[in-house]
Amino acid sequence: AKQEGRNGLRFFAPAMQAHTQRSLELAEALKHAVQRGELHLMYQPQCALSTKRLVGVEALLRWQHPTWGMVSPAEFIPIAEQTGAIVPIGLWVMEQAVRQMREWDAVGLSGFSLAVNVSAVQFATPRLVEEFTRMVHDLNVPAERIEIELTEAVALRSPELAAATIQGLHEAGFRVSLDDFGTGYSSMSYLKRYAIGKLKIDQSFVKDLASSASDQALVTAIVRMAQSLQMTTIAEGVETQEQALFLYSCGCNEVQGYWYSPPLDAAAFADFARASLDP
Ligand code: C2E
Ligand code: CA
Ligand code: CA
Ligand code: CA
Repeated sequence: AKQEGRNGLRFFAPAMQAHTQRSLELAEALKHAVQRGELHLMYQPQCALSTKRLVGVEALLRWQHPTWGMVSPAEFIPIAEQTGAIVPIGLWVMEQAVRQMREWDAVGLSGFSLAVNVSAVQFATPRLVEEFTRMVHDLNVPAERIEIELTEAVALRSPELAAATIQGLHEAGFRVSLDDFGTGYSSMSYLKRYAIGKLKIDQSFVKDLASSASDQALVTAIVRMAQSLQMTTIAEGVETQEQALFLYSCGCNEVQGYWYSPPLDAAAFADFARASLDP
């Protein structure tokens, strides 16, 4: 017993093994998730605080596995990034999103942009700008209606390469926004060098916004900085009227969160958009 007690590894082994086992199984299953039709997108509306109108929508990936049920993107995206499966999955997401935009456009739903998350691993693949450009061109969707959401992680490996790719996306007409802003740890000097149009204020700063003076100060500072750099701001994870009111009063442009709408399937989003665009 004494020997076992000293052996920390043996003590923790069962839990670690279970974790590793599930990760391996998820990694294996993810390789086939696209072909097996297990992935779909949900769409979360984004609203302008000044008009309360729909101005954008974010595509959020869902994985419905036949035996495990719904697997959270918070669990499977990091695994897909480790194995590289995020590259084909990310291309599928963009293609699907652009097709959906085409369909909405065909039934008269326009006047909003569609944001797509692109992981740092996918972002570093060659010919990304060409692939995305080909997709919007083939489906006849203006690149201006597609927004690429990046995280600060894209700058970690090679800031120069990231700057060049962001510039390429910008020149091709895509909008680029910086997701989870405030949670990264890279130098903020890239903000003026990169062609980023919008900052997404991370939900961790929004959660206690109604009561926390320090979160209020942080959010106000982020909005002021963005304004002075001619960037727009959107706050995510906005759940209450109090949060929305504070954000409006400090000059934040847009909000996304349960207060406005949860993520919706494509049909429910179309109804939501119809009601918001011609009330
Ligand atoms: P994210 O990009 O920061 O997305 C926002 C997350 O907040 C989503 O979680 C959304 O459902 C959730 N959310 C929305 N409104 C509220 C709210 O009012 N309160 C709270 N507490 N949460 C809210 P979800 O859909 O589970 O996605 C988690 C993360 O997975 C995303 O965070 C993103 O990093 C990643 N992800 C999702 N889809 C994709 C994708 O297609 N590609 C890549 N690379 N990553 C994705
Ligand atoms: Ca996002
Ligand atoms: Ca985010
Ligand atoms: Ca996040």
